[in-house]
Amino acid sequence: MECLRCSSKRIAQVSGLVAAGCDWSSPAGERKGGAVPLSVGINSWDPNYLCFQYCLDCGQLQGQFPIPRKAELRAFKEKAKTR
Ligand SMILES: [Zn+2]
Repeated sequence: MECLRCSSKRIAQVSGLVAAGCDWSSPAGERKGGAVPLSVGINSWDPNYLCFQYCLDCGQLQGQFPIPRKAELRAFKEKAKTR
């Protein structure tokens, strides 16, 4: 995998079980607690896991951006899932 911005191959991945809930805030100041939002680029497959990749050279978060406001708003409608 190459960085989307600088083509570096130094891409790190962060993933972790969010056992106590995830707190996510939108640029408009709206907040969501509970499951990791699926529609804003910080989750890969399971709402209980925070997961993202970033470049160790330039800091670029990897993924599909921009995230439309519609997807951002969808994050607030997602229900928390229990394990
Ligand atoms: Zn980079």
